[in-house]
Amino acid sequence: MNVITHALIGWTVASSVQTLSKREKFLVTLAGVIPDIDGLGAPVEILTRDSSNPLLWWTEYHHTLHTLLFCAIFCSVALLLSSRKILTTFLSALSFHLHILGDVLGARGPDGYQWPIPYLRPFSEKWQLVWEGQWELNAWPNIVITIILLILAFRLAWLRGYSPLYFFSEKADKVFIETIRRRFPSSRFKT
Ligand SMILES: [Zn+2]
Repeated sequence: MNVITHALIGWTVASSVQTLSKREKFLVTLAGVIPDIDGLGAPVEILTRDSSNPLLWWTEYHHTLHTLLFCAIFCSVALLLSSRKILTTFLSALSFHLHILGDVLGARGPDGYQWPIPYLRPFSEKWQLVWEGQWELNAWPNIVITIILLILAFRLAWLRGYSPLYFFSEKADKVFIETIRRRFPSSRFKT
């Protein structure tokens, strides 16, 4: 799945417990996206594709961090940085594994390649996670899932008064919330 869908899944998991702090919500949301940092080599590969010395950083490294080990490393960081440690760590692990599940379900490349997930690497090459029914990255189920998650995120933002924007800018988030509440007024927001 693409990174926006992963982020929305992470945010949905983070939003499931309203009492988490902003930092804890950020950690849980980040856990849903963080496996894809192994895909950051893609621009380098595209830029060097036609050169005499192409750097295949995407082909060689994509999915190498979609592993149980990397999940454990990230969850250790979440454990250290959170106050509600057990809950934040559990939700981070859940968010991370929903990322893996999302990729197994719907991340087939345009060339049909399934990008098996080496879940136990570097300890074992067993469990190369693939599913034969996997749909393509831009197939309709991914679009439908993304739209549903977006509607949910808007609804939660409207209802609760904050959105993932608040991770980056409280001011921008405030403007966003005021805009959607003005667009969809409700007596519950009248002071
Ligand atoms: Zn991924």
